Amino acid sequence: MTQLGTLYVISAPSGAGKTSLVKALLAQDKQVRVSVSHTTRAMRPGETDGQDYNFISMATFDAMIDKGQFLEYADVFTNKYGTSRLWVEKQLEQGMDVILEIDWQGAQQIRQQMPACTSIFILPPSNTELRKRLTGRGTDSEEVINHRMSEAMSEMSHYGEYQYLLINDDFDATLQELQAVFAAQRLKLAPQQQKHATMLAELLSA
Ligand code: GDP
Ligand code: ADP
Ligand code: 5GP
Repeated sequence: MTQLGTLYVISAPSGAGKTSLVKALLAQDKQVRVSVSHTTRAMRPGETDGQDYNFISMATFDAMIDKGQFLEYADVFTNKYGTSRLWVEKQLEQGMDVILEIDWQGAQQIRQQMPACTSIFILPPSNTELRKRLTGRGTDSEEVINHRMSEAMSEMSHYGEYQYLLINDDFDATLQELQAVFAAQRLKLAPQQQKHATMLAELLSA
């Protein structure tokens, strides 16, 4: 029997550090892949199409909605963001764990469709620090940053809907906590039973 991968949903206000944390996690965990979302927002300097996002037009996005190609999609900051259904399902079938870096609206849709998913929320230590990080990232205009700060409160108000809560103050400490969540998840009964089926059968045979 093939072992199915686990789906992880990670949300955070823009600038809390989820992309940096997930990138660091992926660098040392070969069992997990991150879903590359589709978006209608403009590409930032330093971003690569197909790697950071699949950058598509509003017309293409709407056509993909009509064809049912999104596992979830949402309007975030006047742009549309969505997760490819086909890609995610293929990875999970191959036994890979998959991370979705999506907003709270998308997380609600995923929880309904895939109740077995593991959800994690990442908060910044303060609003002052959040603004500092958005500014320090150097990818967004003052206007965009102000908009993201005002949206942050609404995103953060949903932290209680998630199973795990991380506060990204010290980066390395938070990365260790994120790794601990993945380790704990993999040690749960069901995945362990699947992984060690033969050994368990032998142990318990007369
Ligand atoms: P960043 O979080 O500051 O790096 O900004 P992004 O432009 O990368 O993301 C903007 C928002 O869109 C965030 O709230 C993300 O969680 C959300 N988002 C990104 N991809 C998806 C997706 O595929 N689906 C949904 N529902 N939201 C997404
Ligand atoms: P998000 O994907 O949530 O929008 P990013 O990963 O792009 O956030 O992080 C926003 C900025 O904050 C980046 O410049 C990143 O290097 C920085 N950053 C992330 N985590 C920390 C931390 N714990 N301490 C200081 N800066 C951080
Ligand atoms: P940014 O434009 O800064 O890259 O992302 C802004 C927000 O969009 C982030 O909070 C991110 O989590 C969210 N986001 C990115 N991709 C998706 C997606 O595919 N679906 C949903 N629902 N949200 C997304």
